[in-house]
Amino acid sequence: MQEFPITRAPASKPKPDPKTLVFGKTFTDHMFLMNYETGKGWHDGRIVPYGPIPMEPCAMVLHYAQEVFEGLKAYRSPDGGVQLFRPMENALRLKSSCERLCIPAIDPQTVVDAITQLVRLEADWVPSEPGTSLYIRPFVFATDPSLGVHASHTYLFAIICSPVGAYYAEGINPVRIYVEDEDVRAVKGGTGFTKCGGNYAASIRASERAEEQGYAQVLWLDGVHRKYIEEVGSMNVMFQVDGTVITPTLTGSVLPGITRKSCLELLKSWGVPCEERLITAQELFDAAEAGKLEEAWGTGTAAVISPIGEMGWEGRHVVVNGGEIGALTHKLYDTITGIQWGTIPDPYGWTVKVC
Ligand SMILES: *Cc1c(COP(=O)(O)O)cnc(C)c1O
Repeated sequence: MQEFPITRAPASKPKPDPKTLVFGKTFTDHMFLMNYETGKGWHDGRIVPYGPIPMEPCAMVLHYAQEVFEGLKAYRSPDGGVQLFRPMENALRLKSSCERLCIPAIDPQTVVDAITQLVRLEADWVPSEPGTSLYIRPFVFATDPSLGVHASHTYLFAIICSPVGAYYAEGINPVRIYVEDEDVRAVKGGTGFTKCGGNYAASIRASERAEEQGYAQVLWLDGVHRKYIEEVGSMNVMFQVDGTVITPTLTGSVLPGITRKSCLELLKSWGVPCEERLITAQELFDAAEAGKLEEAWGTGTAAVISPIGEMGWEGRHVVVNGGEIGALTHKLYDTITGIQWGTIPDPYGWTVKVC
């Protein structure tokens, strides 16, 4: 494993109470940084005290959003160790996001090594209360001091870590979602399959409108035909219709989620029929009204599995599984979280021990 030089923080910050943690507000003592410069490549990987990053007001990322990121977690296992869940998948996705945004890709093994070394150094920050974890945020952005519209010649790759509380501290309650028919998140040919900040900027308005109407998330339709379901909020989405699990196929505007991939692999190993295909809102609501929509859930690193209890679209309103979490949804949640926190065996080799 590659080892990077460490400049230690003079003192460790006090650890927050895991019960009152708010997502993404508290950061650990250190961060990883690495620079890119044309001609020199990626260089000077290092771990330094967490702190502000000085930048020119004309830095390219601030104007043209040449930026990509990742999100994964470190989990405290019952033996007191710390483990990651499929980190190479995140490193490979970061590479694919970089390529789309004309950012020079970082060797995936270097990304995994940097994450591993940083988490090992910050191991005391991985909380041990049930459901808690250390959220890891790698990101890459353009730093050229120039307003010219072209690919930057300099970049910074950074990794920061934030302890997070249990997502379902109040128990798993199915959410109400709303089919967004005005805004779109992404289109084929655009950046929907990448994790880039710009996708999120474009999605905020719909989320705010959904929230104003009492919905927790937006169900996104495709940007061309405005009829095929793509994702729910910033999660992938799955439906069990008549015994078969259906999830939107990766058309280019759908983010290839690692939780999505893990769910499909589990479902296949359990012998549950799965289909990756196009599915229209019409088909979904018709199935629900015919009593054939058995379960529905979102998948993503933050919530792992988020059951959907109610859906609204063009004045139609359906309730899924009586508004309760379904048996298959529950089994997926228990299995993935069990593997992540090391409370059940991992026959798939998904977890990577850090310390
Ligand atoms: C990150 C993300 C997901 C979920 O991906 P995971 O790898 O499962 O965390 C789904 N949709 C969008 C838009 C995302 O940004």
